[in-house]
Amino acid sequence: MIPRSGAASIVAAVLCWVGAFSPGSVEGRQRPPTADSSLEILQVRPNFFMIAGAGGNIGVQVGDDGAVVVDSGSAQMAPAVVAEIRKVSPRPIRYVINTGPDTDHVGGNEVVAKAGLTILNLNAAGLAFTHGGAATIVATENVLARMSAPTGEVSPFPLAAWPTETFFERRRYMYLNGEGIEILRQPAAHTDGDAIVFFRRSDVVMAGDIIDTTRFPMIDVKRGGSIQGEIDALNKLVELAIPSIPLVWRDDGTRVIPGHGRVMHQLDVADYRDMVTIIRDRVQNLIGRGMTLEQVRAADPTQGFTRRYGADPGPWTTTMFVDAIYASLQQSRPR
Ligand SMILES: [Zn+2]
Repeated sequence: MIPRSGAASIVAAVLCWVGAFSPGSVEGRQRPPTADSSLEILQVRPNFFMIAGAGGNIGVQVGDDGAVVVDSGSAQMAPAVVAEIRKVSPRPIRYVINTGPDTDHVGGNEVVAKAGLTILNLNAAGLAFTHGGAATIVATENVLARMSAPTGEVSPFPLAAWPTETFFERRRYMYLNGEGIEILRQPAAHTDGDAIVFFRRSDVVMAGDIIDTTRFPMIDVKRGGSIQGEIDALNKLVELAIPSIPLVWRDDGTRVIPGHGRVMHQLDVADYRDMVTIIRDRVQNLIGRGMTLEQVRAADPTQGFTRRYGADPGPWTTTMFVDAIYASLQQSRPR
């Protein structure tokens, strides 16, 4: 076992005790899916909404400056996503920020950005509009690299879906709707293009595919993901989030919205981090004993977590997760 901090253990114990008679966690007002759309929209904060059911979870911050949207879901659901955003914001969509390169997070970029309006009137400054005045799409340079293609090849996404503002530094920021927004690049977690988006006043963190509460995290070693980078990113999320302490009976504290699954509190993120770390340590230990991949698989390193997070068959099976950790640890081994 990975020893948890004493404070975390005490909080866990108290939460269990409080949970015995608390009315249960209700994450704001939730509207069930309507007939015309299979989307769910959840009010996480007075000016922050989450849209689920369009692929990856989508975050929407609203205010006088317009809407800031984190991830755009799949292409197919994009018109419905735009309709949901319109319901909560009479002001234009200004930004689409992508947490990673996957289709279920960037697929709606073109439709959502074109439904919006760039916040800066660049014409006035004698500069051309980007994307004909559409909302700005912000992502890491590696997301653009994945979405575009080398010259002469067909790119997997149309030009209008590509990020228009990319960055390589670890921290990009802006200040909109009365709050600081930090975009924190995670260089090698789920892929090499991930970013966490932290809304400082709303106290909401969009984690992207670094967390999927329904299964083991998808570590895409071929696209630059790594087990150590994944754990580093989870540690960053634990560090950004603050639980409701000392008033632990309040349903309060930072909200962490994963790429897929339900809204989390800091303790949930710490549990997920611990799970990933325990499995990493087991695989490391088995490799240290000279085991081959076949032997590591046979030793069942996800034991105790497989029922909750495992999947078989599926697009991301338990075996694929173990293989990714194995490959990642082999890559990082000193030679
Ligand atoms: Zn995803």
